[in-house]
Amino acid sequence: MNTTTIVIAIMVCIVYAVITLYHHYQPKMICLQCGEINRPSPEERGNIYLAIFLWICFIVPGLLYSLWSFFNKKYVCPACRSERLVPPGSPAGKRAQSTGSW
Ligand SMILES: [Zn+2]
Repeated sequence: MNTTTIVIAIMVCIVYAVITLYHHYQPKMICLQCGEINRPSPEERGNIYLAIFLWICFIVPGLLYSLWSFFNKKYVCPACRSERLVPPGSPAGKRAQSTGSW
């Protein structure tokens, strides 16, 4: 292994760590489905079986699919897994908190 490979590997690790932290430290959101106010949970898109199939059969599409899945996480309510999340300060979030209707 030469120096360039090590530098690239370290940079990839740093980018991976920064993106992981970004996914985990989202601002609190209110769920319009159940009323939960919490940080949204990152959830990967795509199908794990398709990813495994692509990895076994073709390395490059498997890698691309995994990268797409990693970078395109969706945020869901930690209580009910709904994607209907809005910031508590937004008009819809304030309306949900004041009326208690979600
Ligand atoms: Zn919810």
